[in-house]
Amino acid sequence: MSVLENLKDVRQKIENAAKASGRSPSAVALIAVSKMQPEAKIEEALAAGQRVFGENRVQEAQTRWAQRRAEFSDLRLHLIGPLQTNKVKEAVALFDVIETLDREKLARALSLEMKKQGRFLPCFIQVNTGDEPQKAGISPVDLKAFYGFCVEECGLDVRGLMCIPPVEDPPALHFCLLRQYAAALGLTDLSMGMSADFEKAIGAGANFVRVGSGVFGDRLV
Ligand SMILES: *Cc1c(COP(=O)(O)O)cnc(C)c1O
Repeated sequence: MSVLENLKDVRQKIENAAKASGRSPSAVALIAVSKMQPEAKIEEALAAGQRVFGENRVQEAQTRWAQRRAEFSDLRLHLIGPLQTNKVKEAVALFDVIETLDREKLARALSLEMKKQGRFLPCFIQVNTGDEPQKAGISPVDLKAFYGFCVEECGLDVRGLMCIPPVEDPPALHFCLLRQYAAALGLTDLSMGMSADFEKAIGAGANFVRVGSGVFGDRLV
């Protein structure tokens, strides 16, 4: 299927899943994850009206999007991959949303850089809901204190939470957990759900879903 057809299909599924859980389809934003995709497919997505994209590497995102920002003033770029503090300057300059805030050092660096550039980007805290040692994200037990640190000490605009469930677990469990963690902090935005499980995520309250292969097909390796 073409990117256009995939987009139609995914948008339809988003609409159905939202309605099925009594929510408005317009409350769920589709982040098309464009990492490692060929240029022709990016162009197809833009031609189909898609404007919200997710990338997991700063440098790759610069190559793909820096020029296009001038052409598409309504682009919204989400950083959804781990951010090293030495890339914070480039990330703040390029992205519109940082979804992978997960440690104090990064929170401090983002805070300083956002002040410097006068770009106060909305952020999501990435939560390691499965407490997997190899995975990025703040541990649930540390979430409350970390949220306080980000907001009070660093003045960051934390809008919500993001997670990537462990592959071996039923994802719905983690989606529900993330929603509970967010509710406990008074946060409403939830970035959760990928190609294989975005409908379940919407059922659990996601308002941002990150869909890569479901929109673009397999990634280049
Ligand atoms: C790559 C990636 C996605 C998209 O994955 P698909 O399975 O291709 O939809 C979503 N979220 C994050 C954090 C990713 O790195």
